[in-house]
Amino acid sequence: MRRRTFLSAVLTISVFFSSVGFAQRRTQPAVQKRPKLVLLIVVDQFRYDYLERFEDLFGPNGFKRLVRDGASWTQSNYDHMPTYTAPGHGTMMTGAYPAESGIIGNEWLDRATGKRITSVTDDSVKLLGGNPTDPAASPSRLMASTVGDELRLATNDRAKVIGISVKDRSAILPAGRHANAAYWFNWLTGTMVSSTYYFNQLPAWVTNFNNAKPADKYFGAKWERLLPQDEYLKRAGSDNPKWEDVSNAWTPDTNTFPHTITGGLTAPGQKFYTALDYSPFTNDILVSFAQEAIVNEQLGQDDDTDVLTVSFSANDYVGHRFGPYSQEVMDVTIRTDRNIATLLDFVDSKVGLANTLVAFTADHGVSPIPEHAAALGLGGGRIPFATVMGKIQTAISTRYNPHGKTPDPSADYLLRFQEGTAWREWFINNNIYFNYDALKRDGVDVEEFSQVVIRAALSVPGIARCFSRLQLLRGATSVTDPIERRALHGFYPARSGDVVMVAEPYKYIAETITATHGSPYSYDTHVPTIIMGAGVNAGRYLEAATPADIAPTLSALLRITAPTNSTGRVLIEALRQDYKIAR
Ligand SMILES: [Zn+2]
Repeated sequence: MRRRTFLSAVLTISVFFSSVGFAQRRTQPAVQKRPKLVLLIVVDQFRYDYLERFEDLFGPNGFKRLVRDGASWTQSNYDHMPTYTAPGHGTMMTGAYPAESGIIGNEWLDRATGKRITSVTDDSVKLLGGNPTDPAASPSRLMASTVGDELRLATNDRAKVIGISVKDRSAILPAGRHANAAYWFNWLTGTMVSSTYYFNQLPAWVTNFNNAKPADKYFGAKWERLLPQDEYLKRAGSDNPKWEDVSNAWTPDTNTFPHTITGGLTAPGQKFYTALDYSPFTNDILVSFAQEAIVNEQLGQDDDTDVLTVSFSANDYVGHRFGPYSQEVMDVTIRTDRNIATLLDFVDSKVGLANTLVAFTADHGVSPIPEHAAALGLGGGRIPFATVMGKIQTAISTRYNPHGKTPDPSADYLLRFQEGTAWREWFINNNIYFNYDALKRDGVDVEEFSQVVIRAALSVPGIARCFSRLQLLRGATSVTDPIERRALHGFYPARSGDVVMVAEPYKYIAETITATHGSPYSYDTHVPTIIMGAGVNAGRYLEAATPADIAPTLSALLRITAPTNSTGRVLIEALRQDYKIAR
């Protein structure tokens, strides 16, 4: 009975919003020119609720324009874990979960080399625009094609595809393997860089941009609140609650405004460039760089659709340091609204928003600071890594070295690496990796060993769930259990570990980072998904969606093949059935 009432309420609301869509439908001609530009805007670590909590503080041309003129899905969730930057950015333009994009984390263990690698590590390419001997990056670990790749295939390479961000992975992954270029900010030199994966030399306009030292002009800049302090007190509370702890910060900082950006240096240098990451100012640099890219690469200037992906990273750095309910996150959010307005106005003046398909999303959300959640009685807390590994190691010894032999033959059953003189077990993305050689040497049954590890892990207070490699490989999971489904969608056999752990809500297996994300819970998965442009009926949509739906929906609108592993849904509820592209 209650269910029926709920359903009819949903139906009534859908009908109401469909009629809003109908009004919009009559304003657009059915046959339109092919879009000249696809503009993907990403804000790193941007929860859906930021759109609602600060809505009345936004200007008319930023987030409000996206919500007003675009189709906005209010129930859009990532359907994978871990919810990190690289998996999110690897999903939005491929339409593929990490299980198929292969981008299972920001970093993982490469079993072939025994090394910890990033999602974009590539030793075969060189850095351009920074110190040539510093590590470079490429999309070679991305296993699925992107919307940009498919557009390039469809146009005999005439489509131009460019990705930009402060973070390498956030520039590289949405653009794809056959992109023309990706550019990111190098915190060692304060310049925009790329790699020889794309070309042998930076375009002149990028070198000119760098010669003007775009980062250095922020040296000593004071980050103040954009709006009167009362607004911040009302919505975010005190500027220095006790859970806002900057003592572990990588660069010296205060937990109150103003934040003076020097990195503790007397002149621009590496620590300053890192400190700049933790301010809103890199978002300003990124907008300037995007404008230069549009002009100098003539994006959206001919009949073949180009792609520009812009991912703002400052929000993630600030969110990690101060938490989602801080005055700092509130301020960077309001400033990002202004950044997006500037970018959209610029695209309107150079390409025309009528000729542009805009998609807006985020790569993940973020959890409240555990101490904040604890103070509110929500059960927040931190699970020490040493406690987890200690319990597991003891259980392994008890089972496989029952007579306490020394040296303990089971000491190397978990895969380890050397850090200085000490050996540490691999534990990354809440994945534990087994040492198959050692298990084989001693004739240990891997399935039984998995259960020993899982039982021990589950005995640690705060560990909610565990999944074994064998269980995930067999698909012995329930698709109706969202946590199991998200674990399965985040598992790529050649790269993932042997046991995947999930902590309880508001709990981290992390001791030094103030706030973070990565869980399968809604604070990390619920993000905006907005698509704006010809063929799309504006309005709020209550249907379930995920950022994995962006790529197949853009592909449907562009009339091209969807990316190779696109498993998302075409968001048909917002698409005009009569929309045609003029030939
Ligand atoms: Zn991120």
